[in-house]
Amino acid sequence: MAEKANPYDMAVRQLENVARDLDIDKDILEILKRPKREIIVHLPVKMDNGEIRVFTGYRVQHNDARGPFKGGIRYHPDVDLDEVRALAMWMTWKTAVMNLPYGGAKGGIACNPKEMSKGEIERLTRRYTYAIRDFIGPYKDIPAPDVYTDEQVMAWIMDTYSVFSDRMEPGVVTAKPLALQGSQGRTEATGFGVMVVAKEAVRKLSISGDVTVAVQGYGNVSYWAAHFAHEWGFRVVAASDTKGGVYNPEGINPDKLLEHKRATGSVVGFPGAKEISNEELLELPVTILVPGAIEEVITGKNADSVQARIISEGANGPTTPEADKILHEKGVLVIPDILANAGGVTTSYLEWVQNLNRFYWSKKEVLSMLESRMVSAFNDVFSLFKEKDVDMRTAAYMIAVSRVVEAMRIRGIWP
Ligand code: NAD
Repeated sequence: MAEKANPYDMAVRQLENVARDLDIDKDILEILKRPKREIIVHLPVKMDNGEIRVFTGYRVQHNDARGPFKGGIRYHPDVDLDEVRALAMWMTWKTAVMNLPYGGAKGGIACNPKEMSKGEIERLTRRYTYAIRDFIGPYKDIPAPDVYTDEQVMAWIMDTYSVFSDRMEPGVVTAKPLALQGSQGRTEATGFGVMVVAKEAVRKLSISGDVTVAVQGYGNVSYWAAHFAHEWGFRVVAASDTKGGVYNPEGINPDKLLEHKRATGSVVGFPGAKEISNEELLELPVTILVPGAIEEVITGKNADSVQARIISEGANGPTTPEADKILHEKGVLVIPDILANAGGVTTSYLEWVQNLNRFYWSKKEVLSMLESRMVSAFNDVFSLFKEKDVDMRTAAYMIAVSRVVEAMRIRGIWP
């Protein structure tokens, strides 16, 4: 297997390319290439067998020119400083392209939560929160879940932080449980957003008649994308998971498919549908393709065989740079991950606003605000894509980087 590219080098290279397109001053570029702050903490945790283990945790705060830092925390054995740096920078661009009043940050702990008990994960989480508590807060840096962290982990962070603040501070993290002032609509937010921007693309491209949809993966993001596609009158024809895919050109009911997956452990074997591979799913003749599972599935090798008109990136990084080039030349509209899957962070923002005001909205209200923010961000990116004749990803990065640079310039962050 090829060696994994260093994600931080990739993020810097991406930034350099956009800076060149935007003719950004080299001194500004030097500031943006590096995070504003990098925190490394070593966390002694008593394990269930009585031994003490020392874990390494990170919080990297890339940029806060537009507002407090914002970004998830992941628990994974492969977490290291360069990965967290890259993810923090990508958060800066994601919040900027969505025009949320935030900067970008990311955190992580190198650990394997699959081999840890709930008690061990709780003690680790509380140690980590204790160690970084001076650097986070509702007006400083607001973490959220990422890989292998969930609403329970957020609840522990909120509780530990609140103990030191002497009052409950729900706004210190987002994606909390509803019982602890989480937001309605957070569960479906990302898949909903993925389909909102796809629907907008259908409208912009004046596609009339039957709209068909294939989703790769059938977890949180892809299921909700399929659910809303069906609700809005599109025909969901294919879905998949690690065990394979199913295809029925006549249409698949996404809720029935979820029931089947819950009952059998996979989408495979769904009545009336033909079995296909994950690779075949990506090449189906559909209007909208949602790669909503893992990274790097559309590559230089298969991009030419993609028949979809629109790709809405539910997963992070599903399309490689070689594939991007081929798809752009073929006229496939790729809605990039920093825009397409930003429904989660946007709903986190709405949760934070509710927390600061101690005033709560219904699911309908949250999804309606989310929809208008997704549509507006999509329109900004689509207009620049048309104007500059670049691909949608480049257009999204251009908007994001210019917004951050503009904020830095007005604040006078450098002389
Ligand atoms: P999930 O764990 O709920 O679902 C993942 C799905 O992908 C599962 O159905 C799994 O079977 C399938 N899958 C895994 N490996 C596969 C493979 N090799 N081929 C085909 N299918 C495979 O995860 P999720 O929350 O839906 O996240 C999916 C992607 O979206 C990830 O890249 C994640 O980083 C990204 N994302 C998620 C959110 C969110 O709010 N959940 C927000 C932004 C981005």
